[in-house]
Amino acid sequence: MARPRTPAGRARLAVDRLAEEYPGGAAALCELSFDSPYQLLVATVLSAQTTDVAVNGATPALFARYPTPSDLAAAVPEDVEELVHGTGFFRAKTRSIMGLAAALEDRFGGEVPPRMSDLVTLPGVGRKTANVVLSVGFGVPGFPVDTHVSRLTQLLGLTEESDPVRIEAEVTALLPRREWGATSLRLILHGRRICVARRPRCGQCGLADFCPSVQAPVAPAARRPARPSGSGLLQASETRPPVRVSDA
Ligand code: SF4
Repeated sequence: MARPRTPAGRARLAVDRLAEEYPGGAAALCELSFDSPYQLLVATVLSAQTTDVAVNGATPALFARYPTPSDLAAAVPEDVEELVHGTGFFRAKTRSIMGLAAALEDRFGGEVPPRMSDLVTLPGVGRKTANVVLSVGFGVPGFPVDTHVSRLTQLLGLTEESDPVRIEAEVTALLPRREWGATSLRLILHGRRICVARRPRCGQCGLADFCPSVQAPVAPAARRPARPSGSGLLQASETRPPVRVSDA
């Protein structure tokens, strides 16, 4: 098969290959646990700068105690802080989720609105979180751009933009609307597992035959000697937690 020469051609091939690699729709591909758009919205805000595993460890107790936006809006902040402590930045996150719960109660009858124009008026909610809620929670077209989506769309030559809003506009113009949400989630999974920042595993990548950024394997003689064990620099970069879908 000829190697695609245009962003549109690469986008079409990437959509097909990623769908084979990561099957399922946006809701199935999302690694956050949730039972409703309200839970998904709160979980997505909590996922800033932490892992989905950490969020999934905190939310069952949080939603058991505060099952509705009304309950969360009326909570004692210190009690919420204790429940979300394990997700990091717990004071700021408590302010955000209590603020958005109050806004849902005051302005939307306690329901999460299924529109971008309404979602971005909620405290702590930007286009990225709103697009997660739309595509994963409501099954309507939305293309969240997080750090993985930003990096991979540039590496794959789908855009030269670095601003998330411009990336969203350029890349969605290349994709069928029905593929927006799932393609974003698949790019995030690919960025976590294969196209890892600083050390992409091109040899294991199903997009390598048309990716303009593919890296050739490093010959053994050219490899740099390994750092002595215990090097803080290497450990710091190797253990850096992945950035999650969120707006923080
Ligand atoms: S070929 Fe390499 S740089 Fe391109 S998407 Fe795959 S892992 Fe990333």
